[in-house]
Amino acid sequence: MNTLYADIIVDISHEKLDRTFQYRVPESLRGRLEPGACVMIPFGNGNRLIKGYVVALGETCQFAPEKIKDIAGMPEKETGVEDKMIALAAWIRRNYGCTMIQALKTVLPAKQSVKKLEHRQLVRLMNREEILSLLGECERKKQVAKARLLKALSEQETIPYEWITGKLGVSAATVNSIVKSGAAKLVSSESYRNPVKMQSVEAVRNTLSEEQQTIVTEVLKDFDAGRRQTYLIHGITGSGKTEVYMRLIGEMIARGRQAIVLIPEIALTYQTLLRFYQRFGDRVSVMNSTLSPGEKYDQCERAKAGEIDVIIGPRSALFTPFPSLGLIVMDEEQENSYKSESTPKYHARETALEVAKLYGASVVLGSATPSLEAYYRAGKGEYRMFQLTRRLTGGELPTVYTVDLRQELQEGNRSIFSRKLQELMADRLNKGQQTILFLNRRGYAGFVSCREVMKCPHCDVSLSEHKGGRLICHYCGYTQPMPKLCPKCGSKYILGFKAGTQQIEEKLKELYPGVRTLRMDADTTRTKDSYEKILSSFANGEADVLIGTQMIVKGHDFPKVTLVGILAADLSLNASDYRAGERTFQLLTQAVGRAGRGVLPGEAVIQTYQPDHYAITCAAAQDYESFYQEEILYRELSGYPPVAHMLAVQIYGKEEENAKQLALRLTDVVKSNMDFLSGKQKEQSNKKIQVLGPAPANISKINDIYRYVFYVKHAEYDVLVEVKDRLEETLRQWQPRQMRIQFD
Ligand code: ADP
Ligand code: ZN
Repeated sequence: MNTLYADIIVDISHEKLDRTFQYRVPESLRGRLEPGACVMIPFGNGNRLIKGYVVALGETCQFAPEKIKDIAGMPEKETGVEDKMIALAAWIRRNYGCTMIQALKTVLPAKQSVKKLEHRQLVRLMNREEILSLLGECERKKQVAKARLLKALSEQETIPYEWITGKLGVSAATVNSIVKSGAAKLVSSESYRNPVKMQSVEAVRNTLSEEQQTIVTEVLKDFDAGRRQTYLIHGITGSGKTEVYMRLIGEMIARGRQAIVLIPEIALTYQTLLRFYQRFGDRVSVMNSTLSPGEKYDQCERAKAGEIDVIIGPRSALFTPFPSLGLIVMDEEQENSYKSESTPKYHARETALEVAKLYGASVVLGSATPSLEAYYRAGKGEYRMFQLTRRLTGGELPTVYTVDLRQELQEGNRSIFSRKLQELMADRLNKGQQTILFLNRRGYAGFVSCREVMKCPHCDVSLSEHKGGRLICHYCGYTQPMPKLCPKCGSKYILGFKAGTQQIEEKLKELYPGVRTLRMDADTTRTKDSYEKILSSFANGEADVLIGTQMIVKGHDFPKVTLVGILAADLSLNASDYRAGERTFQLLTQAVGRAGRGVLPGEAVIQTYQPDHYAITCAAAQDYESFYQEEILYRELSGYPPVAHMLAVQIYGKEEENAKQLALRLTDVVKSNMDFLSGKQKEQSNKKIQVLGPAPANISKINDIYRYVFYVKHAEYDVLVEVKDRLEETLRQWQPRQMRIQFD
């Protein structure tokens, strides 16, 4: 028998170690190792025993055989990871620029000892009728929180305690009073398995609408014919997307396949979870932030063992190791939270496509306001698109008024509330209906002159204010002094909207003494359950007005909200990012859609300095298609994704000058290799590599670490991957000290 060698990655996250080491496979381990296996190896001169992962096995020796050491053994109780997971990790490494180890850690559940948190459950003691009669009593007494818990108890026999205090927003005191009344008891359980014991009544199934049925039929037709595709369902909230997902999942289970459902954590409401539990019982499992790493690991083991068919969760649920995955659903595919903020900065949509390829699964994306990227691909025929055009639960879209803030100012209104908004708020307070005030403060507010924001002459994105009174472009580094007078009209009054949520609350109380307000922003939602508590207290009618940042536009439905005020639509429009228009359109569309969800019709007021901007006019009209046409034109003209691809290279360093110099040297490497790198496309001169920057990053310094960034743009994704590889190679040669480089 020939000697067998293994390429092994060492379990240390450091760029220098991002390569494999060859070891000999001892006779005792022959046949027991496969790619992904975890092994112990002697490392370095001291032959210290460390852990590593096998990435490949072969009979060719790359070094002098006598210099190669033997693998020492396998660690106890480590489970080898599946080939697919290793392949996925390799793909992540290649595409997002990180070490193989980082990629592996992303893909694999943390192999912690399965330490179980104690989970408590509320278990019903009375029968359904008794609960319902208690419920009636509470409703008469207006005990809203207690009523909500009783209603939940009437629907299911057990409820996890985390859900009660979290997603249901019911206090411990209320739970105790229910326990005292003898309606239910609290019991401890060791694991999070089968969190909900369902009423055995089979939920009545809706007959699918014609539009819904078409999607289900077509997706299955493709699947059964062996065609694996990506589908985009474009449909407003309430148009029946979730129902379509559940039908498809049911069909997959019937075919012996499993499904992953990605839902942004913030949108994973009690109602949605319950719908999945009612449909799939204990074959469904939820992966969320309340689980300990040990429990997440436990869930992966259960998935591997075939104990569950469906997993619901945020982006990390994508790495659930199902034996025969058939479908990946990604709801609200445009959500930012699908992109990882730490290395590797993978995007769940692209990664989902890769997972689907590895397993032979179909992918269904859903959204009310699809990302430009997804819609663009659908337009090119890469995804198959379906539309759901009707709201199935009724409910008209709200009437929208757009108010020009410049005109308000000219006519003498210096308040942050326009006259229209004041009039409508007063009306709601009289009628006892609720209002949401939305401040879409996202990214850095740019600098606003009387007509428009100041843009970079080179990049067509807003300039940002910096300390020292300068305006700066975060793409190319262009800077200019901040003007003292408005460059358009010469006035000293330079407009801008500086108010935060707290200030809005104060002004509101001045205007309407006695108004009951709730505030939701980064400050008021620091603790774990505070987000859901604020939402449920608003749902209970404990406040007239909810003031908040982008967090309030997702998730919950408030039937009593009949007015939404968007205080300064421009704030997100002026973010110094090429996606500012897209984000603004999405936020405004979602915010406007918050009004009039119940039986009462809704109204919305959009206050803006740029009433003619297409992101605003299209959101007011709830017109996605027109928005898309305008936005894609802008992306085409300025060469931004999805029309072109962009690689961001971030350089972090303790010394500002060093970081800057390294950034400059790296851009030179790209520039001097340009011909070589885009050689494939040489005949088409419009497909050139473009380098922007370097410039200080959007947040130029964190914890005394300076951050520089430069961008490389090209029409072909693969060319950028090559650029990234070349830069990694260069860095290996240069070995810059005390610096860190990230690719995005
Ligand atoms: P989305 O996910 O697009 O917001 P949902 O699937 O949640 O839409 O559907 C919205 C509401 O319409 C839900 O209350 C759901 O039960 C109901 N619904 C969905 N499909 C149908 C149908 N075919 N007939 C009647 N009601 C439906
Ligand atoms: Zn610029």
